[in-house]
Amino acid sequence: MLDPASTYSFDDTASFAKASEEKVGAGYVYTRWANPTIDAFEASVADLEGAEEAEAFASGMAAISTTFLSACSSGDRIVAARQLYGGTFAILTQTLPRYGIEATLVDVADHAGIEAALDGASLLYCETIGNPRIEVANLPVLGKLAAAAGVPFVVDNTFASPVLCRPIEHGADVVIHSATKFLGGHHDLIGGVVCGSPPFLNKMRELARELGAVLSPFNAWLALRGIATIQLRVERSSAGAAKIARVLDEHAGIDGVFYPTLAGGSGADLAARLLGGHGGGTLAFDVAGGRERTARFQEALRVIMRAASLGGTHSLIVHAASVTHTQLTDAELDEAGISEGFCRLSVGLEDHDDLIADLLQALEASA
Ligand code: PLP
Repeated sequence: MLDPASTYSFDDTASFAKASEEKVGAGYVYTRWANPTIDAFEASVADLEGAEEAEAFASGMAAISTTFLSACSSGDRIVAARQLYGGTFAILTQTLPRYGIEATLVDVADHAGIEAALDGASLLYCETIGNPRIEVANLPVLGKLAAAAGVPFVVDNTFASPVLCRPIEHGADVVIHSATKFLGGHHDLIGGVVCGSPPFLNKMRELARELGAVLSPFNAWLALRGIATIQLRVERSSAGAAKIARVLDEHAGIDGVFYPTLAGGSGADLAARLLGGHGGGTLAFDVAGGRERTARFQEALRVIMRAASLGGTHSLIVHAASVTHTQLTDAELDEAGISEGFCRLSVGLEDHDDLIADLLQALEASA
């Protein structure tokens, strides 16, 4: 049920005062503290992730930034996998250092490097399927390294969704989502959520209410409606992505395809163990011929839309260097393996053959 109220009235002043003091648990007072529709969304995502609790946010970035600010203080250091969404990369490398919180970025597969970097660190962070090269993190190994170092292991599970992976079962302490993507699933809401257990979440909740980047009840309601179909959507878009990856991998106009389950791909074993053998609804590829040909290719697409975001009903394509990873310098783009022709494709719910035909005609038109 959608309860869009921002505030709640009380019959007597004593219960009003008590509820205001407790903020949560003694009845709803004010929606920045708690709201029944937002509570229902949080309970649903916690259940999906196998977490004790969840806390919703106005966006994935609000969830991520509040997690970092709550878990770390000036003088602390975060160890993060280098394969990250551009916004997360920016907060770690540009914004948090202004507040005395540093970050060490290490390749997600360099476990020895991560272990060494964790000495004296406060938190380990990675994405289940790393943005943008669709690399699967070895969560069980990273979870053990974080536990040995005594730091929380925080995993952004946006690309995999809880349908393909529940990171807490593989050693994560905290799981984050951009609910804008697969949880919502219809390109019509912005939201975020953090799942975990009470000590971590209680501390974060205090800060979340001060910073105020809370989810709106209407977006919580939309996200709940999206969650009702998440399994069907994720399975369909993942099957489509796998099919498209195989077709593009054989095409002369494509220099390379990045998708975990592709034959010979290094992520196949991890996808089998952690993603139920699926690769997820997002793939990436390098268009041969550089930036100009890539622009011509994208402009020739008729079904697939040129739009940011992922995990929704429609297939969306982005040129990483000019859209999702603009925060990176040329050297950082190079280090992250993002070439001039690098495209990320989020596969929606359209007919798979229509999508393949669209990609093939656009490759031909742009050649
Ligand atoms: N995490 C990942 C993996 C993302 O891809 C994104 C956005 O694309 C975010 C977090 C940020 O989410 P939002 O756009 O909801 O703030």
